[in-house]
Amino acid sequence: MTSLPVLPPTQTAVPGDDADARPRKVHLLNVTDEGLKDWLAERGYPAFRGKQIRRWLFSGRAESFETMSDLPAKLRSELAESFDIFQASEAHVSTSRDGTEKILVRLADGGEVECVLLRDGDRRSICVSSQVGCAMGCVFCASGLDGVDRNLTRGEILEQMLRLQHRLPAEERLSHIVMMGMGEPLANLPGVLAALDVARNPDGLGISPRRITISTVGLPPAIDKLAASGVPYNLAVSLHAPNDELRSQLVPVNQKIGIEPVLAAADRYFASSGRRLTFEYVLLGGVNDSEACAHELTRVLRGRTVMMNVIPYNPVEGLPYRTPSKESISRFRQILEASGVNVMFRQRKGDEIDAACGQLRRNRGSIGEKSPAT
Ligand code: SF4
Repeated sequence: MTSLPVLPPTQTAVPGDDADARPRKVHLLNVTDEGLKDWLAERGYPAFRGKQIRRWLFSGRAESFETMSDLPAKLRSELAESFDIFQASEAHVSTSRDGTEKILVRLADGGEVECVLLRDGDRRSICVSSQVGCAMGCVFCASGLDGVDRNLTRGEILEQMLRLQHRLPAEERLSHIVMMGMGEPLANLPGVLAALDVARNPDGLGISPRRITISTVGLPPAIDKLAASGVPYNLAVSLHAPNDELRSQLVPVNQKIGIEPVLAAADRYFASSGRRLTFEYVLLGGVNDSEACAHELTRVLRGRTVMMNVIPYNPVEGLPYRTPSKESISRFRQILEASGVNVMFRQRKGDEIDAACGQLRRNRGSIGEKSPAT
């Protein structure tokens, strides 16, 4: 290969990684349009072949070059010699009764991440990972239990999206993307933004930024960078507690940041993007579900145009947290609603397949092969 059509890697070093064991072909989903154009030009092919290839990848759902029937046979074989369309594999797929499908994706270097397809009426939403593991260490989350290994590349993020798209019948298309799988998306901003550029491009997946949500624990400098990108993605800030004392216990990175700077960065994002903010609050039984917490939360949110997304906790094996009682959920809800907060209690889709982030990877690691949809 003479040209270098690949995006600069956003990966951190993988301890013990053996470069020789990595696939020698280039991950096509890591190749920019310009890079592909150069690669084609070096071999005497016109630029429009690049558009055709892209159409096959994102609309045609191609998994092999052989199926790209309007490309010359010679080009198809040259592509197959140089590139892989997918480089990961599906280590496990689970389907729940409500139609939620979750894939445990094994990456080329053996790392594992999770991604989920959720069916809700006409919506076909996907939840995608941005890192292998997570450094934020939220105490109730399976993804952060072992820390972070590395950032995902653009191609690895796009591959999750396409693998989920391929699970839909031909007449259905993806409608929403949530960067809320394993990892902190704003800790891998270059990889995430590069993948979302393709996802929102009409020649890519064609999903409007208004239907794309980036979830974060709240890293103020990265929120400002996201605002500076000028693309009005939805921002969902995981609050999980109404004060610093409790939040620092639940989201350890808060010790270095504090709620106020997070809220101020979220306000700046709202001011520059015009997109309504969402705050996420995982409701943990006996921890952050008291009436006092609900009242304090209403004071924190006063004067802000937000949607409060409350998610009753999905228990994780080995962690000491429990689902809140029905009574405390309804009390919490009443207090927020009475104060005029827009609140949504999210139904937990795919409970029986460990749909909370990091659970499938962890449970498979600890208890071996699980049968789908138990
Ligand atoms: S909840 Fe999100 S940010 Fe927190 S540890 Fe899990 S993956 Fe990371």
